[in-house]
Amino acid sequence: APLVCLRGIGKAYDNGVAALDHFDLDLREGELLTLLGPSGCGKSTALRLIAGLTEPSRGRIDWRGAQAARAGFVFQEPTLLPWADVFANVYLPLRLEGVARETAAPRVREALARVGLADFESALPRQLSGGMKMRAAIARALVTRPSLLLMDEPFAALDEVTRFRLNDDLLALKRETGTTIVFVTHSVYESVYLSTRILALAARGGAIIDEIEIDADIAR
Ligand code: ADP
Ligand code: ADP
Repeated sequence: APLVCLRGIGKAYDNGVAALDHFDLDLREGELLTLLGPSGCGKSTALRLIAGLTEPSRGRIDWRGAQAARAGFVFQEPTLLPWADVFANVYLPLRLEGVARETAAPRVREALARVGLADFESALPRQLSGGMKMRAAIARALVTRPSLLLMDEPFAALDEVTRFRLNDDLLALKRETGTTIVFVTHSVYESVYLSTRILALAARGGAIIDEIEIDADIAR
């Protein structure tokens, strides 16, 4: 069964903007789905709907397939607490759940190792490069062991070389953990490189204009 089903979704904001219209999606377990389209086409709105962070104006969303799932979020801005070191930043979601520091420590270190930051747990955000800050934000999203990772243009602000490396590391993460990932991007290159499936959105009006399945054997 799909993790999340969206049926006949319409989303209009208070200002009358129709961000999505007739949007349908069955999110499959283990896929890396990209939502592709130009700025303003409704990608972030779709991601927020999948996350349950915003209500649709029309249609239904069914999370029954994801009852045991937890979602982790990564946005374009890493939004690390500047006064807290990398360990404390990654520990934060578990701390908010009341998990003691000693109990959390192995999971924090596992998440840091997964993103290549094992040696940086005492560093402050300002001591890190842009790519490393993003790695810390990914570790923070992973520390709760989510089965669904929602990423909104996470690498768009990074230089091309860093972005390329993070794309490869994301593919390795997916291979090794099986996490289902929804990835928002306006880069055709990035969507083709990463995805098992691409949903392309129209520039205006929020309709899906194309759905492309990528044959894993050809793609990688
Ligand atoms: P994308 O992520 O593809 O850039 P968004 O989902 O952010 O697109 O936005 C889709 C459309 O909805 C845009 O026209 C945007 O200006 C509008 N929009 C997004 N969020 C809001 C909001 N909170 N209030 C009003 N309009 C919004
Ligand atoms: P990323 O691709 O993660 O942004 P960079 O290209 O910025 O990484 O850096 C490459 C490597 O250089 C990092 O993996 C790290 O080992 C090292 N490095 C970068 N910035 C720092 C720093 N502020 N302190 C120590 N080592 C660093």
